[in-house]
Amino acid sequence: MFVEIQISNYARQDVVIENSCPNCRKPIIPDVVSKGSSEKSVGKSNIFITLQCPGCEHFWVEEFSATLDGTNHYNLTHVEVKPELPSDIPMPEDIDIISPIGKDIYLQALKAENEKLNHIAGIGYRKALEFFVKDFVILTNMDDKAKIERMQLKQVIDTYIDDEELKTVALASTYIGNDEGHYFRKNPDKDIYDLKNYLHGFIFYLGKKLTFLDAQELVNRSKKS
Ligand SMILES: [Zn+2]
Repeated sequence: MFVEIQISNYARQDVVIENSCPNCRKPIIPDVVSKGSSEKSVGKSNIFITLQCPGCEHFWVEEFSATLDGTNHYNLTHVEVKPELPSDIPMPEDIDIISPIGKDIYLQALKAENEKLNHIAGIGYRKALEFFVKDFVILTNMDDKAKIERMQLKQVIDTYIDDEELKTVALASTYIGNDEGHYFRKNPDKDIYDLKNYLHGFIFYLGKKLTFLDAQELVNRSKKS
């Protein structure tokens, strides 16, 4: 359907709105609740239209950017608003280099949690943990890369992580993480929030450990010279 918008003092123009509801997905003719535009600079405006579904009665907003071409006509571009979800915990900068997939999985799990998809989020956090642990261990044991990739997560932690604090939070995350992936919960008193707490602990220690390794490398280098 078309919705007429006053884009500037001089120009009115039709905007095309799809005849379907983004919530219930049914074909509908939405009701226009409000509409308007704000001029950002000469020949450039932002348009909004608030719509309501006559079926499920939910509201949503469509946004367009309008740019004046030479003929007193505006070119309209539909703006898709997808909020970028920042991490809810500080991640060490090195994570982007060491475990970019782990970070990606963590952010996807966080998104699932925010969407109230708790069952999926738990499995996601467990998978992120596996990537963080294995990528970190591989970094410090490059020769065993192929072996580590195939090992059980718990075995990797037991074999390669010496630091007791790092080991404890990693193992605790594994226990709850496994519960998230299986039918039977061995630790029914712990849930996804405990898993996240331990996972945060692991990432925190990981950051400290990476700083230490970097400093150690520097000290060893200056010893040699
Ligand atoms: Zn609807």
